[in-house]
Amino acid sequence: MSDRAEKLLTIRHHVSRTPHIVLDTEKCAACLLKPCLYFCPAGCFSLVDNELKFQYEGCLECGTCRVMCANNALKWDYPQGGYGVSVRLG
Ligand code: SF4
Ligand code: SF4
Repeated sequence: MSDRAEKLLTIRHHVSRTPHIVLDTEKCAACLLKPCLYFCPAGCFSLVDNELKFQYEGCLECGTCRVMCANNALKWDYPQGGYGVSVRLG
C-alpha cells in the first residue's frame, strides 16, 4: 500500500445532519459539461438517470468545487463545529 493510501485510511468523517454544501439544482440542470463529476477527489458528485446527485457526507473539504464551478452554483461553507473531516496522524 502506498504512503498516500495509508494516509487516506486515517481520514474520519463526523457527518452533520446539516449539509455544508448546497447546490442550485436549476443551474446544475442547465450545466452541460458537469465538470464536478471529474474534479471532486471524493466522488461526491454523480449522475443518476441523467440528473446530478450530490452527497456531502464524504466531502474532504478541499474547496475544489467552490473554485471550479464556473456557474457559481454552490453555497459552500465548512461543516459546523465538531463535524466534518479529520485526519488521525501516526
Ligand atoms: S459544475 Fe457547478 S453548475 Fe455544473 S453541475 Fe457541477 S456544481 Fe452544478
Ligand atoms: S469540497 Fe472537495 S471533496 Fe468536497 S464536494 Fe467539493 S470538490 Fe468534493
